[in-house]
Amino acid sequence: MSLKDFFIGMSQNQFLNSAAKKYGLKLGAQSVVAGTNIQEMIQSVKELNAQGISATIDNLGEFVYEEEEALKAKNQILEVIEAIKINDIDAHISLKPTQLGLDIDYEFCRKNLREIVSKAYEYGIFINFDMEDYGHLKPSFDLLDELSKDYDNIGTVIQAYFYESIKNIEKYKDYRLRIVKGAYKEPETVAFQDKKDIDQNFLKLIEYHLLSGKFTSIATHDHRIINHVKQFVQENNIPLDKFEFQMLYGFRKEMQIELAKEGYNFCTYVPFGDDWYGYYMRRLAERPQNMNLVVKQVFNK
Ligand code: FAD
Repeated sequence: MSLKDFFIGMSQNQFLNSAAKKYGLKLGAQSVVAGTNIQEMIQSVKELNAQGISATIDNLGEFVYEEEEALKAKNQILEVIEAIKINDIDAHISLKPTQLGLDIDYEFCRKNLREIVSKAYEYGIFINFDMEDYGHLKPSFDLLDELSKDYDNIGTVIQAYFYESIKNIEKYKDYRLRIVKGAYKEPETVAFQDKKDIDQNFLKLIEYHLLSGKFTSIATHDHRIINHVKQFVQENNIPLDKFEFQMLYGFRKEMQIELAKEGYNFCTYVPFGDDWYGYYMRRLAERPQNMNLVVKQVFNK
């Protein structure tokens, strides 16, 4: 079993997930999670804003199977929307449909999402539907399709490892989109397995959406991809206000600040809350060197 498979397996362990919620931010997660409550998160976003960086806020949580838990998540996200407005910070929301009950009942999830999107619409705040594993891809797009009949403050994510992403990017070319490589373990029946193929498709999707003229968020820590995009936008006269780079909170911090200083729009993905375990295990799966963060935190105590 590879280290990647090991950490992906750990990310889905429900016993460890519940234990992690009880015992707060441990295992080094505090360097990549912006606190366990709204006040701590707002403070982190203010610090980013002061450096010319905007934020997409993720109230951590996913794969929720109890209605009560999904309703709690919905209320917390509504509180975050209020907090963005009250504190007048440069931020929007990222959320996961499974946190809002997609695995419980589609209609229930749609109702929760509608409440969130409608409140954000009132305040002019953008909502990004994060994309999860392949099993949730179609219902997540269906939710987006239904809600975008009434609201235009929503967008989603296209994951480059899926073969069908090229078809999806054509279908959603009029939306604000975040493009990523893809974070879950998927079988070769639906997704590229080879890093080279994923990177190649990633660039193809980014270029397609940049040329479509709609806003593109290029979400990656990969400097090779970033350098390619810098050159591509220059050669194709893509205006700076039509795209942004995104990275996760706590990763490649100097590069985040540097890109913002160079004049690019930069947005940091800011996760917070006590449901950090699955998120953190996926980060370890992507890059086992992230274990260095754990080691540093353990020895810095
Ligand atoms: P990788 O392929 O992990 O790394 C490529 C190279 O970049 C590495 O070999 C190394 O040279 C360099 N590098 C990478 N990280 C570092 C580092 N920390 N320090 C130094 N060098 C480094 N996935 C989803 O499936 N759904 C989502 O909704 C989603 N949203 C995301 C939002 C944001 C803002 C980001 C950044 C990622 C998101 N992801 C999402 C995760 C994404 O799919 C990838 O799994 C993740 O970003 C890792 O791929 P990468 O492009 O960063 O580069």
